[in-house]
Amino acid sequence: MKIAEELRKVLGEQATIITDPSVLPSYCRDQSQIAQSGNPAAVLLAKNEAEIALTMTFAYSNSIPIVARGAGSGLSGGANAIDGAIVISLEKMNQIIEVDTANLIARVEPGVINIELDKEVSKYSLAYLPDPASREWSTIGGNVATNAGGMCCVKYGVTAQHVRAIRMVTSDGSIVELGSPLKKSVTNLDLLHLIVGSEGTLGIITEITVGLAVRPKPATTLIATFASIDAAMKAVPELVALAPSMLEVVDATTLRAVEEWKPLGFEGVGTVLLMQSDESPEICAKGVEIAEKHGAIDATYSDDPKDSSDLIQVRKLAYPALERKGAALLDDVCVPISKISKLVTEVEKIASETGLLIGIFGHAGDGNMHPTIVYNHGDADAEAKAITAFNQIIKVAQNLGGTASGEHGIGSIKLESAHRESGEKIIELQRAIKKVFDPKGILNPGKKIP
Ligand SMILES: Cc1cc2nc3c(=O)[nH]c(=O)nc-3n(C[C@H](O)[C@H](O)[C@H](O)COP(=O)(O)OP(=O)(O)OC[C@H]3O[C@@H](n4cnc5c(N)ncnc54)[C@H](O)[C@@H]3O)c2cc1C
Repeated sequence: MKIAEELRKVLGEQATIITDPSVLPSYCRDQSQIAQSGNPAAVLLAKNEAEIALTMTFAYSNSIPIVARGAGSGLSGGANAIDGAIVISLEKMNQIIEVDTANLIARVEPGVINIELDKEVSKYSLAYLPDPASREWSTIGGNVATNAGGMCCVKYGVTAQHVRAIRMVTSDGSIVELGSPLKKSVTNLDLLHLIVGSEGTLGIITEITVGLAVRPKPATTLIATFASIDAAMKAVPELVALAPSMLEVVDATTLRAVEEWKPLGFEGVGTVLLMQSDESPEICAKGVEIAEKHGAIDATYSDDPKDSSDLIQVRKLAYPALERKGAALLDDVCVPISKISKLVTEVEKIASETGLLIGIFGHAGDGNMHPTIVYNHGDADAEAKAITAFNQIIKVAQNLGGTASGEHGIGSIKLESAHRESGEKIIELQRAIKKVFDPKGILNPGKKIP
């Protein structure tokens, strides 16, 4: 069957269906360097929920795989195309439908870019808090489908904590509403939160209702330097107890990469901790005392917005500073915060055994670390070594009581790790749930669920 032609008959001439071989590749991959991708039969740039429902009904009848795609900023191959699939891109469904200031909620289409919603609600002194570093281009649909995290999670939680309800097209083309715009509702099983983080394997999200917050005050920023990761991590539990709105760490390897590129004055420093409080400068003053008590070389804070943005530069430059040194393979593991220091030490061992450059930075306040492996572009041996190191790091994290992914998801690149972590019974339950939502296994097959 010519899938694109048949789909055109179902949707009509006004539908935007891409089959041009020179355009298709831009819808085939996300940002993962190592995930496989296939050749889709067609890409639908969906304009509305009705088109998606018709497409799903068609795909269900003909057992055609479907891959949902937001902005393609994912890092696990989740949105990567599969041979013969229809990719449904949500990028054109990008309307903010309603901002309800009385009930502190907003209703959006899935293709709305995260930061655009925050900008819109800021007009009412409100905020959409989830802040993945990709918020300037990732979509809220993608954020919900991956349960995206970010720097604010230490205080405000992950995307799941901000989603109230969704509309979703199921694998057979039915339309369902899950969750409730209300702040409290326990009438049904919490199916909404089965979908959050399901990476396009249980349904296509077509509308999202999110909770909004009163816009926090501009943050005060603390920076503290330490001789070692151990010293820095001893301060972290007491800093977390101050309820910071951000608590980040940058390790020595990453600091060296930043210094080589844009010197900020961190030569010889072992670790940097950055903390923000959106409550009061006094919180950061207490933070300085805590950092000094734990042997900080230097600790200071500022409530001047310009200074704050200068102080967090080092964290913002962490990934690009490593990336400019070669191909960068970004890992995403989460460990108990008491184990961050051990994780860093073990990753340093892997780096010295393999000769790879591995910088580590991440969210110290919740244990979600991003060891970043750098290897030579186009060097197949180096890439194979990097992939081995990537998987070794996950094992180290799991052995420390951690998890294979804190926020980037499983996609197709961490299935084995997810299997190892989950155990047979949990895998069996997940497969059973998948069967209920997707009996023909057409929704993003080969992703998320081992
Ligand atoms: C520089 C950079 C920084 C990043 N920082 C962070 C960070 O701080 N925190 C974080 O969590 N992630 C981060 N990411 C990863 C990525 O941005 C997130 O996973 C993001 O949520 C993906 O959104 P997207 O719109 O790009 O989705 P895509 O990459 O297009 O898709 C992601 C997954 O969601 C599914 N999906 C997308 N839309 C829908 C829908 N409407 N219905 C059903 N399924 C859907 C896809 O099938 C896929 O499995 C970063 C990525 C980059 C490149």
